[in-house]
Order: sequence, then C-alpha cells, then structure tokens
Amino acid sequence: MNSPRSRKLLLSVAAVFSLTALARAEVNKVEPIAPDVYFHEGDIQGHGHCNNGWVVFEDYVLVIDANFPSGAQEIIPKIRALTDKPIRFAFDTHHHGDHAYGNQFWVDNGAVPVAHTGVIEEMRKYETGYYDGKPGRWEDAAKGRADVAASKLKPPTLLFPDEMIFDDGKHRVELHYFGVAHTHGDGFAWLPKEKILFTGDACVNGPYNYLGDGDTGQWLKTLEAAKKLGAKIICPGHGPMGTGELLDDQHAFFAELRKEVGKYARKKPDQMKAAVDAIKASLQKNERIARCLGNGLAGQVEKVYVEMGGKPFLNKQAAAEEHRRHAQAHGREFK
Ligand SMILES: [Zn+2]
Ligand SMILES: [Zn+2]
Repeated sequence: MNSPRSRKLLLSVAAVFSLTALARAEVNKVEPIAPDVYFHEGDIQGHGHCNNGWVVFEDYVLVIDANFPSGAQEIIPKIRALTDKPIRFAFDTHHHGDHAYGNQFWVDNGAVPVAHTGVIEEMRKYETGYYDGKPGRWEDAAKGRADVAASKLKPPTLLFPDEMIFDDGKHRVELHYFGVAHTHGDGFAWLPKEKILFTGDACVNGPYNYLGDGDTGQWLKTLEAAKKLGAKIICPGHGPMGTGELLDDQHAFFAELRKEVGKYARKKPDQMKAAVDAIKASLQKNERIARCLGNGLAGQVEKVYVEMGGKPFLNKQAAAEEHRRHAQAHGREFK
C-alpha cells in the first residue's frame, strides 16, 4: 500500500470523503456568500428540496427559487432572522415542483413569483390540472407530498422574455434566459458585481441531472452562453456551491455523454441498451464528471439516443422505475 499508485488512491478516497462530508454538513445551513447575498443548500435526499438563494436589497428581499411549500417554510424563518425587509419577489428558475410549487406560500407572505415566459409555457403543457382540469403533475405530486396537497399551484405572474433587472444602486441582480437546457424555461440569476451565478437545474453539483424536459444539444449552448458571464461562484440548483468550473464540469458531462451515445446513434435500440454499462465505466474514468453519474444513467442515455433519432429502449417497467428515480431526484415522493 505504499506505491505511488496506492497513495494516489488513498488521497483521492480522502478527497471524496471530505467533499461528501462537507456537502452533507452544509445542507439546510445559511451560507453568506457576499454582503446581503445568501445561499442555502436544500435537503434533496430527505425532502426533495432545491437550493435557494436570496439577496437583501435596500427595500426588499428577492428570493431565488420558490422550492416546494415545505422548502419555503424551511427558509422563511431563516430570512426573517436576518432582515425584517419585505420579501417582495420569488424567482422560479424553472417550472419543476421543487423550484416552483412553493409560489403560493411566497404569495401568502407578500411576494410576487417571477419567471421566464417559458415557465408558463411549460406549466401549460404539464400542469393540466390548473389549466383545463385534467390531472397533471401537481396532482401527481400531491398524492405523495402533504405539503403540495395542502397548497395550490400558483403560476408566476411577473414574466420576462430575455432579461429582467433588479438594481437599487447597491445591489444588482440580472435574470437571464440563455436558451433551452434542463427545461424550455430556464432562468439564471446573475450578480455582476459579486460575480455570483444562480443556475437553477441548468447546472447541478452531483447526480441530479434530469433530462426528461430538456434537450442536451441545446443545453450545451446554453451553458456556453452562461460561461461567458465569467462567474466566480456558482450556486447550482442541487448540491453544494462551487467555483466557475462547475459550469465546465456540467458542460463536460453532456459533451461526453453525447459523444459516447453518438457512437451508437445508428445502431439498434438493443445495442444501445447493452452499451449503457460500458458508457458508465468510460464516464466514471473522467474525474471532472464522475460525480454526475447516478442510477439514472440508462434513462439519460435513452433520452440522448432519442434526441439523436433513436427509439426508446427501456421497457415500460424499467421506464416506470426511471420515472420513479427522476421523480425522487426531484422530490416527488412515491408511496
Ligand atoms: Zn428541475
Ligand atoms: Zn430541481
């Protein structure tokens, strides 16, 4: 155990352990990142919560992501402990329940939900219960979550097509839309003075990428646009915050995944399916992206394969299992 190779192995195990310990220690803890700017890593494992951020302006507070109702309940007292300024705006980075289902809770506390126009378009597509009475995602989530069952969907009412700016001379937050990524309505919150970027699920730090509502080819372009901002601190949608390199890691994951799947794009679905383990082994060798790999890889491979013109290869049972895993990753608990 004294060869350079085993020492390297021990070192990397120690590094992974300390990173994991750090990540767990920071869940549910308020992290001041700059004067009046805070980050809060949500408890995704236990409650499906997303990460939150908030900025205390001169006259009001802007919250980044509404979270689930129980996630909103978790952080409101933490904001209140720091300031008594009114919470005026809650910015949904996208339409998913773990980022937008807490909207009603914020409205009840005096805030207006804000989002890119694509969030409303996504809600019209998936939230059929709200728009035309046919049960949709909210109703599905309410079956397994008491906090959702006790609240109601509140689509954002203040919408921006490309950009919206909050600036009181001291603080500036720019909400940007850079294109399709994790969904068709991903908004970013950019603090140019502090060089802090809140990405929603367009960038995550860990095995939390859900591809079902997005497009990986466009996702790469959107990440490239976000990278041009030159962020020093990235506050991802899930997982611990990191440096600007987090965007590069996320980009590398999709670039490598697409490269691997591309080798099978013209092969039969069975051949694609049989290659999942080999793809996993290959991606795991890449230190930059190994932590992005989770149990959902088969579903992610299938999504990319379909984007490239292939046919789905997961059988219905496996697909249901994938859905269950994704849903859990996004906090919809199933009985
Ligand atoms: Zn999401
Ligand atoms: Zn999420």
